[in-house]
Amino acid sequence: MIFTTLKDPKQVLRLKRTAYALIGYGIHTIIAWLLLRWHLLWLSPEQFMGLFSLFWLMHLVFPLLIITGLNRRFKDPSLTLYQMSWATLYEMTVIFFAPPVRMMLLMYYLVVVVFGAFRLRLAQFLFISSLALASYGLVIFGWAYFQVTVQDLRLEVIQWVVFGLAMGIISMLGADLSNLRTTANRQNQQLAHALGKIEKLAITDELTGVWNRRQIMRILQGQKALVDRGGYRFAVCFLDLDHFKRVNDRYGHHVGDLVLRTVASQAKGALREIDYFARFGGEEFLAVLANTSLPASLPAAERLRRAVEEIDFEGIADGLHTTVSIGVTDCRFKEPLDIVLNRADQALYEAKRAGRNRIISKPAHDTQAPASAGA
Ligand code: GH3
Ligand code: MG
Ligand code: MG
Repeated sequence: MIFTTLKDPKQVLRLKRTAYALIGYGIHTIIAWLLLRWHLLWLSPEQFMGLFSLFWLMHLVFPLLIITGLNRRFKDPSLTLYQMSWATLYEMTVIFFAPPVRMMLLMYYLVVVVFGAFRLRLAQFLFISSLALASYGLVIFGWAYFQVTVQDLRLEVIQWVVFGLAMGIISMLGADLSNLRTTANRQNQQLAHALGKIEKLAITDELTGVWNRRQIMRILQGQKALVDRGGYRFAVCFLDLDHFKRVNDRYGHHVGDLVLRTVASQAKGALREIDYFARFGGEEFLAVLANTSLPASLPAAERLRRAVEEIDFEGIADGLHTTVSIGVTDCRFKEPLDIVLNRADQALYEAKRAGRNRIISKPAHDTQAPASAGA
């Protein structure tokens, strides 16, 4: 049981808090014992033992509830309100038996209350304050009733009023702090959410949802680093939509955007999981085929070309149809990326000149990695 509790960080935190409370009760019991020794407590040693044994049984209920996980059945699994209610009743009972040192014990109680004040809502805190004031009022009434040690009831009533004021002020401060804590938590969550969004925006293309130029350049650098270690190949396909300006002119920018989105998703779907697809700019896209030689990249490029050609736009606009020209190349050992991309661009240009809707490949020369460059 304790092991399942210790696996949950929230439960561990709760257990820690009840452990602090137990330390507080421990100090309090020692003080009470000293008061007993100095005859400042209205109890015989036997009564003290009996009463404090009962108190300790109650103190231990809270850690036991948490260890067994039963606290999870409560609306507030931290049991803060219950723990503070118990601390209040306990303190007032001890005060009842120790009238000469009531001010010291009330101060001790106020310190305990300040800890709880950070965790409770205003209504809960007002409940604790009312409980404390009512029970302390009852204690004063008890003293008056038994006519012991209370010389001046007016003084007791004034002390009761001041105690009430102190509790009221702590309630307000506690509610403020509690609100601040809630607001800070909420803002942290919003910030984390916004940060996640920004991180996604920084690497994806807003219109099409595929990687953006910055991210594909980062991916290319990673691929190039693998090539430069030796024994690894990758190919790039530079795609440019054919006569895309006409699509915009004839059907409007809105339809143009829709075509770009559809082309991106269909082309991406035509690639393997390990490949990368990005919008490089405007109506140009780049596919990076991981672990692929130039000859092996050609069927993939053909799949891309066909995937675009086969998109059915008839439902969107009459006569709307689009094709893509593709320039393909691979990356040579230690070759700068801009040279690789330039070569792919030249191949693309040739594909355009040769009539569009086709693939032209340009091999990187001198592609052998030196024998020493392995692994
Ligand atoms: P080619 O076959 O030679 O590539 O002809 P093209 O008309 O596709 O070539 P060009 O580069 O002249 O035109 C590209 C067009 O792409 C121009 C521009 O209006 C359009 N375009 C670029 N980015 C976007 C975009 O985000 N949305 C839309 N709708 N159009 C875009
Ligand atoms: Mg273009
Ligand atoms: Mg174009």
